[in-house]
Amino acid sequence: MMNSSENWPEQDLEWLGKCPACGGEHRSQLFAGLRDLAFQVAPGTWTMWRCLGCEAAYLDPRPSENSIGRAYQNYYTHKQPRSAISDRRKRIKIRRQMGYYNAHYGYDFPGAWPFGKFIFKLDHAKASRADYAIRHLPAPSRKDAMVLDIGCGNGSFLLTARDLGYAAVGLEPDGDAVKRGLAAGLDVRLGLLPDSGLPKSSFDYIFLNHVFEHLHRPREAAAEILSLLRPGGRVWLSQPNLNAIGLSLFGEFWRGLETPRHLCLYTCKSLTRVLHEAGFIDIKMLPAEAVAESYFRQSLAMQQGLNPQQTESPPGWEIDGKKQARAADKAAFRTPERGESLAMTARRPG
Ligand SMILES: [Zn+2]
Repeated sequence: MMNSSENWPEQDLEWLGKCPACGGEHRSQLFAGLRDLAFQVAPGTWTMWRCLGCEAAYLDPRPSENSIGRAYQNYYTHKQPRSAISDRRKRIKIRRQMGYYNAHYGYDFPGAWPFGKFIFKLDHAKASRADYAIRHLPAPSRKDAMVLDIGCGNGSFLLTARDLGYAAVGLEPDGDAVKRGLAAGLDVRLGLLPDSGLPKSSFDYIFLNHVFEHLHRPREAAAEILSLLRPGGRVWLSQPNLNAIGLSLFGEFWRGLETPRHLCLYTCKSLTRVLHEAGFIDIKMLPAEAVAESYFRQSLAMQQGLNPQQTESPPGWEIDGKKQARAADKAAFRTPERGESLAMTARRPG
């Protein structure tokens, strides 16, 4: 547990004076006095600015690239990696899910239940979970198709991608996670963006699942992602949405802020601009992931001064909180611009 009066060391702060997403200097203060309420490991209080040019929000000052590791103590989980589609404990559920993938994503899984496509069609939350379990990845269109998962953590998605017929590489800044991934037979490299050291024009799909908001240099990162993709390849990104319903309800206690690890937060408009300026085309927002229950439960805990990692059910959650979260997921289903998280894809020309 951090000492709440402790500061981030002055020499380890970096002052920006402009938006890291677009370079614009016009801004207004969005929040002051933010602290690490989500994990309670990083010292310091932080100010978040809203860019008047591109709508992104960012911390200024922020932890420098050399010192940011301090904010990730006790942050990483080191669970065994597990594929989302070959978990033997859930065999029946997975056969149904396979039917959905065969019908909607071009797969040809044997033993799948053909009814899967109808069952999922009737329940959008279930369909959303199935979509996000494979991150909307369609069947490979060529032999040796390859995916890259940036910030791959324990490597679960690499296993999922393999099960879907892809070769899979992970990039991960946490040395322990890399060691464990290698021991589990996964191809995981140590590093992050930009300056990944990975081969150019190599990947059919690149994924960043709750990673882009952690990057110090998003514009350089986007340019590097483009260069790592094969011509015609796609990037998939998901991160907290600065236009989320939860942010209007919980303000500075919203789980998506995750100060000071989230350095820059995006709306659909601001992320579109970053991708467009990097040279991406065909930039699209995906249907919102139904994650309001998790975001709202944790936000409610933080609002009440509780540690969200240790609070299963904060006061007020069981009836009103859950109801509010379900309503938010429903609203985001109709209006993905207001979802708790924002998922987008874009393509490298060619
Ligand atoms: Zn901006």
